Amino acid sequence: MAKIHRLMPENPRMFRAEVVRTRRVSPSLHRLTVAGADLTAFAWQGYDHWFRLFLQLPHQRRLRLPEFTGSRWWQPYLAIPEEERPHCSNYTVADFRPGTAELDIDFVVHRGPGGELEGRAAIWACAARPGDALAVLDQGRLFDCPQDASEVIVAADETGLPATTNILRSLPAHTVGRLIQEVPTARDRRTLDSPAGMRVTWVVRDDDTSPPGTATLAELRRHTRADPAGYAFVVGESTLATEGRRHLHRAGLPKDRITFSGFWKHEAHPAAA
Ligand SMILES: Cc1cc2nc3c(=O)[nH]c(=O)nc-3n(C[C@H](O)[C@H](O)[C@H](O)COP(=O)(O)OP(=O)(O)OC[C@H]3O[C@@H](n4cnc5c(N)ncnc54)[C@H](O)[C@@H]3O)c2cc1C
Repeated sequence: MAKIHRLMPENPRMFRAEVVRTRRVSPSLHRLTVAGADLTAFAWQGYDHWFRLFLQLPHQRRLRLPEFTGSRWWQPYLAIPEEERPHCSNYTVADFRPGTAELDIDFVVHRGPGGELEGRAAIWACAARPGDALAVLDQGRLFDCPQDASEVIVAADETGLPATTNILRSLPAHTVGRLIQEVPTARDRRTLDSPAGMRVTWVVRDDDTSPPGTATLAELRRHTRADPAGYAFVVGESTLATEGRRHLHRAGLPKDRITFSGFWKHEAHPAAA
């Protein structure tokens, strides 16, 4: 994620907000609806519009945020003493309602080998209550499909589900192509508002022994030929993103027509290694 992307805002804006309500939308996805006066100025772009999420530390009474101008927020962020520096993770706008300035965030709920909740953001989200503070730093979008793309191939694990849901919602109605979407359980599948020409394949990960993304990568590899005039977007666990890109390029898609991003990295637990 170090690369500055073309569709990133030059002067990203920070929006303070607070939790309004929370709801488990499916077994593996916990939704927070957040709102606040700042968000009335949020310009949602649809597609995979994403942001940096800043969270207050458990001992803090107020969320401390970096002060910055332009796009250089990272150094001011690191300059905040560690015991006061907010936690920061990357998330996607799951939905935005301009009328009420409400923004939805879908957190993947993931667990360790003993069943305990893992991931600082997901743990925070599952315990969040109305009134809890947070902030959102707008990062624009990564999805960058050329207008003349002959087909669109999208592949993701569950961390990419908020992005793929809105990509399908945002694509022009005449788009043809395919979504390969992995989810941990069958009940995480959802109704997608999609162009009729987009074929949707749900990959349900019943097999707990393979890292997330493995089955989606296998499905993607069944595309032995990709139209060089197409476009692909591959996100999720880092091996899915990097190997997915490698495969699609070998299958004929130029590198500049593939957007890929490792959203997180699977770490084998010692007991399972
Ligand atoms: C552009 C972008 C958009 C994203 N959008 C979303 C989104 O909308 N919803 C969403 O849930 N995630 C999304 N992610 C992924 C999310 O940023 C990561 O999962 C991140 O690690 C969560 O932050 P954390 O602080 O909880 O993780 P950490 O506390 O750093 O993670 C702790 C441990 O959890 C493991 N881990 C992290 N995520 C997962 C997972 N999904 N499954 C299993 N183990 C995991 C890590 O390997 C690590 O060992 C997005 C990432 C990017 C780059």
